[in-house]
Order: sequence, then structure tokens, then C-alpha cells
Amino acid sequence: MNSTAPSYTSAEVLYASTDFSKLNWLETQWAAWYLWIGNPVIATGLMSFLLHEIVYFGRCLPWIFIDATPYFQKWKLQPDRIPTAQEQWDCTKQVLYSHFMVELPVIWLFHPVAEMFGMSTWQVPFPSWQIMVPQVALFFVFEDMFHFFAHQALHWGPLYKHIHKIHHKYPSPFGLAAEYAHPAEVMILGAGTILGPLGYCYIKRDLHIFAVYVWITLRLFQAVDAHSGYDFPWSLQHILPFWAGAEHHDFHHMAFTNNFATSFRWCDRLFGTDIKYLEHRRRMNELKKSGLSREQFAAAEKKMLEQVEAEGVVEAAKVEAYRYGSKKVA
Ligand SMILES: [Zn+2]
Ligand SMILES: [Zn+2]
Repeated sequence: MNSTAPSYTSAEVLYASTDFSKLNWLETQWAAWYLWIGNPVIATGLMSFLLHEIVYFGRCLPWIFIDATPYFQKWKLQPDRIPTAQEQWDCTKQVLYSHFMVELPVIWLFHPVAEMFGMSTWQVPFPSWQIMVPQVALFFVFEDMFHFFAHQALHWGPLYKHIHKIHHKYPSPFGLAAEYAHPAEVMILGAGTILGPLGYCYIKRDLHIFAVYVWITLRLFQAVDAHSGYDFPWSLQHILPFWAGAEHHDFHHMAFTNNFATSFRWCDRLFGTDIKYLEHRRRMNELKKSGLSREQFAAAEKKMLEQVEAEGVVEAAKVEAYRYGSKKVA
């Protein structure tokens, strides 16, 4: 695989020394895409943008269906908060606006930046899965830690008030709300997704953009699922206990404090930013074991969730009332 930045005018030149008979179907399609577009910068930019749109909205579709199907309501974390079609449509418009106005212009920089860091883009064949799996795992761990600290910074008065407040519009989130955020937040938290691969590439000089796409696809699944608002018995967090999942992030939206990480539970556990959440879960489990009738349980659960959300509103107001140079709240 040739990983040096090529100097070329025609895309055919890129593959002059590639043996196409040794490529698998996906690698052949990959090369065909670069040959068809004829300009690697546009080919990478367009593919990155399309990947993001298809994976993000594609992953949201099952959640839209689930929200519209009463059968699934028993697994909704905040059962009285099913998003309306209007709410979902308003959110979609805002997310699309941000994708086209903010992400699309930036995404064109991706190819030049990737090549600057020595990342392979148009090259085929891809690295083996034995090489890519540890890379993707590393990006997950890095992003989770980055997000944990950056997200807490976004809860600091001025940053919350001017940036992160938009994402907290929904105390009971739904899949589409994953990227409902201020453009600055998209940039700040998006940095955690892309700095891992760039840093890795800078040090190791051995990364294919295909591995980055695998990572981004899984990261988008994680983000949409974490905002879904559902905790099924088969949700990943019941298989991998350190996986955060919707049950973890839903609490962040509802209670405003606690649970700042994305993919994993360990950062919040280590820094004690999940105390309130753990107490809530303990009370919830007690409630489930208390032998109440279905109606009594629903009423008690509703009361408990309303109390958590009301406390969250107070906490958010305190942060928003932050005054420069003073921690006194209004
Ligand atoms: Zn937050
Ligand atoms: Zn969120």
C-alpha cells in the first residue's frame, strides 16, 4: 500500500501499480469511487458527508418507528415523554441545517488534513481487521475520555449558556436529538472523534481512512442509541456492564448533573460524577421489587422521574445564572 501523498492530475494514475485481481468487492468499489469522481479531495469529502448522513439518519429510523409503536413503551426510560412527530421533524430540520451549513464546508478539509497526517485514503487494499479492530477500540477509549472532560467544561456557566444549552433542550431525548447542538459544540465534541485517529496516525503513520469510517459509523450508532430513550433487556449495557448506553445518558438529560461520558461508565465512576445517578438507579430497583400493581408502579415511577427532572431544572438555572468573576447565583 502506498501511503505517501501522490502528485497527480488524473485519478487513473493513483492505481497504476494496484493489482485489481487481488482486491475484494468492497476494495474494488472503493477504487471505483475514487476513479469515478476523479479528484481525491472531492471523493473523500463527498464520501465522508454521505456516510455521516446515511448512518446518522439510517440509525434514527428504527427509533422513529419504535417511538410510534406503543408496544415498545414499556422499555421507555421516561414513559410519559414519547416525542411527537412535530418535535422530531423540528429537530430533524435543525440537524440538517447544521449538517449542510457547518459540517459540509468543514468536511472538505478532511482529505488534505488526513494526508498531511499520513493517513491512507484512496489506497487499496485496506489493512486487515486484526490491525483495524485495536485502532477502533483505542479511538473509543480516547473519545470517551475527551468527551468526559469537554462535556463537563460545556456545563460551565458561560459555555453552557451560549453553547451547550441548545443540546439540553430535550430533558427526555430521542435518537434524532443526538446531534441537536450548537455548531461550536459540534466542533468541540467532534474534535474528540477525529483527534484520536489524527493523533494515532501522526505517531504511527499507519492508518487507513476506512478504519476511521468504521469508527465514525460505530460512534454514530453509539450517539444515536444513547439518545434513544429506551433501555431494552437486550441493550448492549446489559451485555457489557461498562457500556453507558441510553440508560446512562438519558439520566444526564433528565437530571442535568452526572453522567458526562459517552460510551463507557468508567470515567464517571472514577471521578464520582455518577453518585446521583447510582442513587436514582438504586431507588428505581427498589421500586421494581416493591410488589406494587402496574398502575401504582407507573404512578410512583412518574413521581420519581418528575422529581429528578425538577431538580435538573434547578441545577440548569443555577449554571445559567453564573456571573463572570462570581460564583454567586442569581
Ligand atoms: Zn450536558
Ligand atoms: Zn445528549
